[in-house]
Amino acid sequence: MADHYDVVIVGGGMVGLTAACALGNSDLRVAVLEAAEIETHWPESDIGLRVSAITHASRNIFDAVGAWQSMVERRLTAYSDMHVWDANGDGQIHFDSTEVGAPTLGYIIENRIIQAALYEQAQRLANVDVLCGRRWQQWFDCGGELHLRLDDGQTLRTRLLVGADGARSPVRERAGIKTQGWGYDQSAVMAIVQTEQPHQHTCWQRFLDHGPLAFLPMHDNHSCVVWSTSPEEAKTLLADDDEGFRLKLGQAFDHTLGAITRVGPRGAFPLRLQHTLDYVKERIALIGDAAHAIHPLAGQGVNLGTLDAAALAETILDAHARGRDIGLLTTLRKYERSRKGQNIAMMLSMDGFKRVFGNQTAPLQWARNTGLKLTDHLPPVKHLLMEYAMGERNDLPKLATPQLTT
Ligand SMILES: Cc1cc2nc3c(=O)[nH]c(=O)nc-3n(C[C@H](O)[C@H](O)[C@H](O)COP(=O)(O)OP(=O)(O)OC[C@H]3O[C@@H](n4cnc5c(N)ncnc54)[C@H](O)[C@@H]3O)c2cc1C
Repeated sequence: MADHYDVVIVGGGMVGLTAACALGNSDLRVAVLEAAEIETHWPESDIGLRVSAITHASRNIFDAVGAWQSMVERRLTAYSDMHVWDANGDGQIHFDSTEVGAPTLGYIIENRIIQAALYEQAQRLANVDVLCGRRWQQWFDCGGELHLRLDDGQTLRTRLLVGADGARSPVRERAGIKTQGWGYDQSAVMAIVQTEQPHQHTCWQRFLDHGPLAFLPMHDNHSCVVWSTSPEEAKTLLADDDEGFRLKLGQAFDHTLGAITRVGPRGAFPLRLQHTLDYVKERIALIGDAAHAIHPLAGQGVNLGTLDAAALAETILDAHARGRDIGLLTTLRKYERSRKGQNIAMMLSMDGFKRVFGNQTAPLQWARNTGLKLTDHLPPVKHLLMEYAMGERNDLPKLATPQLTT
């Protein structure tokens, strides 16, 4: 006997679970298939290495689906300022949330806290089942629905399969959806550190020859370091002992927050830009990194993914309310139209930034330093950049618009 679900979401990461929660409290039956077990508890002193800068738009979505309060209660750090400067020159720019009348520019949250809060919320929803430690092995198109065979022999029938299974997306591969993109020949070294001076609730980003070095503010004056550099240097930085890493990091950061006093575990992640040619096919939709992977220099990957999740849920619920088949290509195209252009625009801007700051020829160095200084003194342009980085635009899915009750 096959179990019937209206929607099966493959991938219970931050984006897949956001989509599931956004479909909660409807009369659609939803399953989330997650290969790993999802952790919800760990010692308080344990700090997750992977963190995300979360925009106001994502916060609004998490709040609307009932997961935000749990993130607040678990642990997050609001940031009000962002300081960006070039190691090769005197160009710098400072963003201050009070300039746009907002108390914060965004929030730094450990990825596992986001995932745990969404998972617990999904478990509270009567119409959502989260199946952890399970994978699909094969699926068959049975005219009007897909039959998905799982590794434990169970079969799920569904009208719509959502791939939220990350940048390597097996769903995308099996569906034969092609991607375009390129590697950056860069890796991001991440580490949790403490500094001599307080981080001042500021995101700091210094552009070095090999890539940007960011310090993201966390609780108890911890910072999460995201150091994009060549794969060779990344390997050396991981192999260094704590003392060696501390000294190199302090120097690369120009001792902006004084000495690095403590270094926690480190990890490295290869960086690439990747975009799928199609987000949808008949009975298939891709969201999050399964559809697009972006350079982390402006911390937008998850934020694009939560907007995908909200837009797809909106499309599905709207079609369902009109009595339409939610898996039809004509239905799903509405989701694709609402997100593809915006995602491409963000990806290309980040790619452009990366290239402009990665080029050390004298004319370009001069141009970008002049550009940074000029922008710093042009409030209208600065405000526009801030609103963009905060995810505040007027073409957002409904769930991403403010409705905070807390
Ligand atoms: C160094 C670095 C820093 C970053 N910083 C930021 C930031 O500050 N802000 C930001 O917005 N973004 C940031 N990002 C991007 C962000 O991490 C990703 O965009 C985000 O993790 C994508 O979420 P996702 O849920 O789409 O995919 P994933 O996080 O990859 O989750 C996919 C899930 O699918 C599951 N899965 C995979 N295959 C299967 C299968 N066959 N069956 C069942 N389950 C499966 C996996 O176990 C996983 O749980 C950063 C990325 C990097 C590399």
